[in-house]
Amino acid sequence: MPESFDCVVRGGRVATAVDEFDADIGIKDGVIVAIGRSLPAGASEIDARGRLVLPGGIDAHAHIEQLSAAGIVNADTFESATTSAAFGGTTTVICFAAQHRGMNLLTVVGDYMALARKGAVVDYTFHMILTDPTEATLKEHVPALVAQGHSTLKVFMTYDLLNVGDEKLLDILLAARQNKALVCVHAENHGMISWMSKRLVEKGYTAPKYHTISHPRGSEAEAINRLITFAELIDQPIMIFHVSTAEGVATIRQARGRGLKVFAETCPQYLFMTAGDLDKPGLEGAKWMCSPPPRTQADQEAIWQGLALGDLQTVTSDHAPYAFDATGKLSAGPNPTFKQIANGLPGIEARLPLLFDAMVSKGRLGVQKFVELTATAPAKIYNLQPRKGSIAIGADADIVVWDRERTVTLADGLLHDRTGYTPYAGRTLTGWPETVLRRGVAIVRAGHITAKAGSGAFLPRSGGAAATPLNRPTADMDPARNFGALLC
Ligand SMILES: [Zn+2]
Repeated sequence: MPESFDCVVRGGRVATAVDEFDADIGIKDGVIVAIGRSLPAGASEIDARGRLVLPGGIDAHAHIEQLSAAGIVNADTFESATTSAAFGGTTTVICFAAQHRGMNLLTVVGDYMALARKGAVVDYTFHMILTDPTEATLKEHVPALVAQGHSTLKVFMTYDLLNVGDEKLLDILLAARQNKALVCVHAENHGMISWMSKRLVEKGYTAPKYHTISHPRGSEAEAINRLITFAELIDQPIMIFHVSTAEGVATIRQARGRGLKVFAETCPQYLFMTAGDLDKPGLEGAKWMCSPPPRTQADQEAIWQGLALGDLQTVTSDHAPYAFDATGKLSAGPNPTFKQIANGLPGIEARLPLLFDAMVSKGRLGVQKFVELTATAPAKIYNLQPRKGSIAIGADADIVVWDRERTVTLADGLLHDRTGYTPYAGRTLTGWPETVLRRGVAIVRAGHITAKAGSGAFLPRSGGAAATPLNRPTADMDPARNFGALLC
């Protein structure tokens, strides 16, 4: 044991993804160096008596200071989004470096790195969005960037300006396999969504609520099934983003049952909202518009079941903040159709309190599963372990002291992002992050943040175990069974 601690978090009830126990936590140089009873005094002390002490949250899906294909910048900067994350108990974010068509991926990643370096107050790492998988992108830029610690590729199967189409999706899966990168996918059937959208708008059904109808529920499971079929052909691990339907969960469960390396996440909007939330007068429903859209209560139950069984491993925010004004949701003028309204919700701060209320305070699946879904599992899947994701000797001292008695009624303007509204306004939650430590420093305390812009650290990472292929080629790709064709 070191002779002195920089900080001791004293007397709390500590929970990890597997255990719960009373202990003090001793911190030195930003790292947890002791977990024990009656530790000697630290240079600073945090009184955690009567409190729950949990690992800092990891939000593996957050759009920050990102330019949309339509040219709209979201409402947050790195500083505002990560400040909001910290207030909500999240100490690591995985955000996006978004290539649009015609852009050089090296430049794109460099630009987003510079923004994060300047503004982030929590630690960060990136998923690289590929919309233009040229030969140079896949053969030169992706290998160079993976070597620099950018080891996930994100692909869209829908949106006019983002989706890559089936053949290029296969190219990207193969490039990922060759570079030991994970592939994350927005899986919805583009043709079904375009076709439904056109019919709805033509017939005058333009209100925000029809956005939910324009993404027919079958479009998700169809795309997930197609994606899994492609990934199996290439023998490439995949992560399916923001699962919204019972059929989507079932398709994933079946693939995992066959032993395929398929990971999946969902988001609070699919656990706590339904399509009915968009049914508001005028354009108000735009505040609840995201893609895929929220579905039904039966879907919520199926997704909870998927989380309980491990078919879905993480809950992320998919934070995509657009203000409810001409800079964001209403950028197409005062009378837009649902097709002209930016998709996305703020959620980087509310994610953990919403889940804590449901899982810990109300008891659904319990505190260990809460820690697993929000910190430990994303750390494992995105290869941030053992540095992040748990309370353990040698891990970064990213620690959140939760006041489990405190009740907060969410309201527009209460949270710290710059969207200006929360889709959860009016909900009363029990349990709130009180003190947030990032690498041993209390960056949020008594409702104030002390972290300086740019004090977040970049977390370079390789693909790790999750991105390692099964080495189970299909017959079509296996030279021993495809008449000797060498295809990989
Ligand atoms: Zn997203």
